[in-house]
Amino acid sequence: MSAAPKIIIITAPSGAGKTSITRYLLDKYPTRLGFSVSAATRSPRAHEKDGVDYYFLTLDTFKQKIQHNEFVEWEMVYEGKFYGTLKSELERIWQQGKTPLLDIEVKGAIHIREQFPHSTLALFIEPPSVDELRRRLEMRGTETVESLLARVNKASYEISFKHHFDKIIVNDDLSKACHGAEKAIMEFLEI
Ligand code: 5GP
Repeated sequence: MSAAPKIIIITAPSGAGKTSITRYLLDKYPTRLGFSVSAATRSPRAHEKDGVDYYFLTLDTFKQKIQHNEFVEWEMVYEGKFYGTLKSELERIWQQGKTPLLDIEVKGAIHIREQFPHSTLALFIEPPSVDELRRRLEMRGTETVESLLARVNKASYEISFKHHFDKIIVNDDLSKACHGAEKAIMEFLEI
């Protein structure tokens, strides 16, 4: 019997740097790792492309997919905004002979880990502090005052779940955090 196909999750509060770490890993291991494109109901930001950054869906289409059991996990990450990992997306990446790399929030990460406890590596990227996280989100400039406050409040809550994950990587230095994630992944994939 062949081993169950593997899944790698990078999770963290918004603004902790998980997207930068995910990009570093995908650039370095393009033949091993495949980015899992999530479905989402929020509007695309400037430069975001449908099918590349997200599958941007209407709320109706997203709800239909929930009913048809097409997600491995989904969450209402922000008020009225749904995000989810499609089963078809994991299959697509496995069929390419790669391991899916998921950049998702904490609850979704916990759900996937519960479903695939022996074949998932879930890394938690911890911001050095909540103040630092606020500063990073302000600098990114993608948030309104309300959404920034919502993300910062949510971050404190999410940090309380960090012990559910295989490894906690404190991102006080991006390059060190990238290498920490890389090392854990190499061990997991036995490279
Ligand atoms: P953003 O709107 O900034 O792109 O993403 C908001 C949050 O949703 C981020 O923490 C991101 O990692 C998370 N996210 C993206 N895709 C998914 C998904 O498929 N499932 C879950 N649970 N969270 C996701």
